[in-house]
Amino acid sequence: MTQSVCILGVTGSIGQSTLRVLEQHPDQYSVYAVTAYSRIDELLAICKRVNPQVVVIPAEKIVQLKQLFIDAQLEHIEIRVGSEGLISVASAPEVDIVMAAIVGAAGLLPTLAAVKAGKRVLLANKESLVMSGDIMMQAAREHRALLLPVDSEHNAIFQSLPHNYLSLSPTGSPQLGVSQILLTASGGPFLDYPDDLLSQVTPQQACKHPNWSMGQKISVDSATLMNKGLELIEACHLFSISEHFVTVVVHPQSIIHSMVQYVDGSTLAQMGNPDMCTPIAHALAWPERIATDVPALDVFAHAQLNFRQPDTQKFPSLTLAREAMRSGGLAPCILNAANEIAVEAFLNHKIKFTSIPEVVEHVLNHVQNDKATSIEHVLEIDAVARQVAGRYIQQIRG
Ligand code: NAD
Ligand code: MG
Repeated sequence: MTQSVCILGVTGSIGQSTLRVLEQHPDQYSVYAVTAYSRIDELLAICKRVNPQVVVIPAEKIVQLKQLFIDAQLEHIEIRVGSEGLISVASAPEVDIVMAAIVGAAGLLPTLAAVKAGKRVLLANKESLVMSGDIMMQAAREHRALLLPVDSEHNAIFQSLPHNYLSLSPTGSPQLGVSQILLTASGGPFLDYPDDLLSQVTPQQACKHPNWSMGQKISVDSATLMNKGLELIEACHLFSISEHFVTVVVHPQSIIHSMVQYVDGSTLAQMGNPDMCTPIAHALAWPERIATDVPALDVFAHAQLNFRQPDTQKFPSLTLAREAMRSGGLAPCILNAANEIAVEAFLNHKIKFTSIPEVVEHVLNHVQNDKATSIEHVLEIDAVARQVAGRYIQQIRG
């Protein structure tokens, strides 16, 4: 029998890589639902390829998609809309596996719905976990969801941890002989770029990642190192450890995807070519393995692996994220919201690249941190932080 998959964010970079893996295993997986926010032509092409039973799009796109479906004789595919549509497919009884690959806070409610429905949830959408950490992890435990990391670093950590690690009860300290997590970072496109020219870089330069091909938002996050900051927070929640057990290591080749150190002096690393199909396939099939079209790592071609300390003066976002995690409560949610607004403003040429962390710091200092009491509370603070970020951006644009 095949397992039924729902892909949230199918038109994105992770969504496309997921399709690439699934299409190699038609005997094991079928696609029940796919969702998209824009690029409706791309969505139509995907529907022709995988013939899902349901699609979810924003309400304003329904007329366009209905016509496209009629023309392509795909009227049998059910169209649902908006946030309710996303939640309904993420928690549908027909679905076994949910790929959470919407970018940003928009992914929070559907990802949480999948967790509460006890699905196998493949987590790409790190922002949802950063926003709602304890609530999401508690829901996963309560509803026996299998929350598996797709983010390449977290997938590497998961592969390097003892196999029963995820089912342990949270303590904040590493368990089963684990002593430290080494979270690797490529360093992004500006690793060796002169500090004094960083304020002049364009969105196009920032989106040109040396090793990975990704959506725009995460590409900018990789360039500021906020991506590593979000990943630090993600790791603390996924593996129930406090931030001082997570060390960020700049490794420009992106061949080692992260490491776990043990009390006996062992360091385990997961290596591979930088292609998201590997962690996606791992999370889909775990604890089994399925094939992908990613070539095996040619170790002779990668004789040099380098490691450096991150430059937190040049990339203050990493420190902001670590401090937010240390503060706890809703600080990571505030950080994430401010960052989303700042990145969007940078992509729209409204602020400089170096203003991104400045906006985030301002918002962290001007929105009251609190313990998160409910998901509504998280959404409320997210909205407040976005407003404060928006106002500050107006102010610095003068
Ligand atoms: P992307 O921009 O390529 O795709 C985003 C997807 O989300 C698209 O399908 C888009 O239609 C959908 N979407 C955007 N806004 C939406 C909204 N408001 N409501 C509903 N759907 C919306 O992004 P991506 O690179 O595929 O990244 C997706 C997630 O995976 C992000 O959280 C990112 O941090 C994470 N991630 C990506 C990579 C990567 O290699 N691309 C690696 C690790 C983690
Ligand atoms: Mg990553």
